[in-house]
Order: sequence, then C-alpha cells, then structure tokens
Amino acid sequence: MPIVRGLPRLKAIIGDLKKKGRTIGFVPTMGALHEGHLSLIRQAAKENDFVVVSVFVNPIQFDRESDFSSYPRGLRSDARRAAEAGCDLIFAPSAGALYPPGFQTFVDVTRLSLPWEGRARPGHFRGVATVVAKLFNLVSPTRAYFGRKDAQQARLVQQLIEDLHFPVILRVRPTVRESGGLAMSSRNSLLSPSERRRASGIFDALQEGGRLIKCGQRRGEAISRRMRVVLRRIPDVKIDYVAVVNPKTLEPLKTVRLPAAILAAVWMGGVRLIDGCVVSTKKG
Ligand code: AMP
Repeated sequence: MPIVRGLPRLKAIIGDLKKKGRTIGFVPTMGALHEGHLSLIRQAAKENDFVVVSVFVNPIQFDRESDFSSYPRGLRSDARRAAEAGCDLIFAPSAGALYPPGFQTFVDVTRLSLPWEGRARPGHFRGVATVVAKLFNLVSPTRAYFGRKDAQQARLVQQLIEDLHFPVILRVRPTVRESGGLAMSSRNSLLSPSERRRASGIFDALQEGGRLIKCGQRRGEAISRRMRVVLRRIPDVKIDYVAVVNPKTLEPLKTVRLPAAILAAVWMGGVRLIDGCVVSTKKG
C-alpha cells in the first residue's frame, strides 16, 4: 500500500481512479490510529472501490503548541493497521506541502464554530474547516467518513459540504469505545493507567443524560446538572462543558426535543477529552 507524501503523485493517482469511474472513500485522520479510526476505514472499504486515509497532524487547528508537539505520531504502524482495515493509500503530506509560504486562504464555518469546542479552542474549527476543504479538493472523495465522538466537528463538516457545494457524501459513524466505555482517542495514550480507568466516568455521565431523556426528563438544564454530578465523581477531573443541544444548531436545549445531542469535554490531568452522543428515540 503506497504512502504518498507529495501532491503531484496524489493528483496522478486520484486522476487515474476518476478516469476509470472508481468511487473513493476518504477517512481524514491525525494518525495514531485506533479502533475508532479503523471502524471508519472498514466502513469506507465496504462502500467504495478505493479507500484513502490521510494522516496529517494539522498545525493550524491546534491552539496550544504543547498539544501539537505532544500529539502521538507513528506513521509506520498507522500504515500497517490502515492497510489491514482495507485502506488502499495513505496520504501523509508535510505541513509545508499543505501550507507553503504565502498561504493565506482559510475557511470559516462562522456560527457552528463558535460554541463548545470553538469557545474552548479559539481558531480550532477554522483550522479543521480549512484542512478538510483542502483535503476534499485533493482527494475528490465520493464519500467521507467522520466519527460521532467529535459531534460538533461532524456537524460543521456537513455544513461545509453544503455551503461550498462539495460533491461528497458525508457518513457519520458511531463512537467506538474501550470496554469501560471511554471513547477511543489518540490522546488516551497520554493518560496514565489510573486516569484512563477514571475517564470511563465520562461515558457514565453521557449515559445518565441519555437515560434521563428516555425517562421523559425534558429540562435541558436539569439533565446537564445531573451529568455534572456524575462527572464530579471522577477524582481530579475538571469539567470544561457538558450540554444537551440541538444537533443541527448546537444551541443548548431549554426544553429537550428528539433527536438531541449530548456534548461533554473534561480535563484529566493535562489531557483534554471530549465525547458526545445523539439520543434519537425514547427507546433505542
Ligand atoms: P482524529 O485522528 O482524532 O482527528 O480523528 C479522525 C476521525 O476519526 C474523526 O472523524 C473522528 O471523529 C474519528 N474518531 C476518533 N475517535 C473515534 C472513535 N472512538 N470512534 C469513532 N470515530 C472516531
């Protein structure tokens, strides 16, 4: 399986696939691949003739230099795992290839970028939207695969596709979790074993929120208050935000209507973890 670094080579391969009428499934990642990423790759392989996985730690979406420099990296093992899951090509450009000197064009999904992750990480979604738009132009995917865990990001990408008329079908896939419920994340490797165990409390809080909604609780604030209680049981956790929101606008729901999205972000030690889920039916 080729690992392509340069843009000209990628363009040649994609051009050839398009000429032959092949469908392309695309999974953008920042690498340090885990089962969550692999589930997206497997799904892409099921639905498309050819699967491209990008591995690019996008510097412009990091608001803290320490987060960027400590972000786990390992292209060789990523390539092996991705190939086993059905990837046909890894695109791993250098930062200089995507952002050459003189680069000055950015994409801003104005309203959806503001709350939650956007407030906590200024400039984050401008970086995400810009790199996703660039990658869509370079890879020309038929379908693109994103994880529900990053619910705000997935919603923002959907808006980006609509607003800029990208001919891409968005597939948002369920969150893959460790056995205790912690959402798999590349950043989990930065947690100590004890922090990792305790971090499964984030899922307990999401479940509690979902349970209350399914039991008929409709006051958004009461639900998030209860989730905060569950989160505070985790020793040494710092809650960034927890909210029940409209999955389309991401605005907090005073009165919960289904489907509703639950978003949470916490600090465990020096590591920031986010999780999210959608509650769509009373049962389910
Ligand atoms: P990242 O490498 O963290 O930027 O993630 C790349 C893609 O994988 C994003 O669309 C994420 O939402 C998705 N992803 C990350 N973790 C998971 C997970 N545990 N389950 C499903 N998808 C995930």
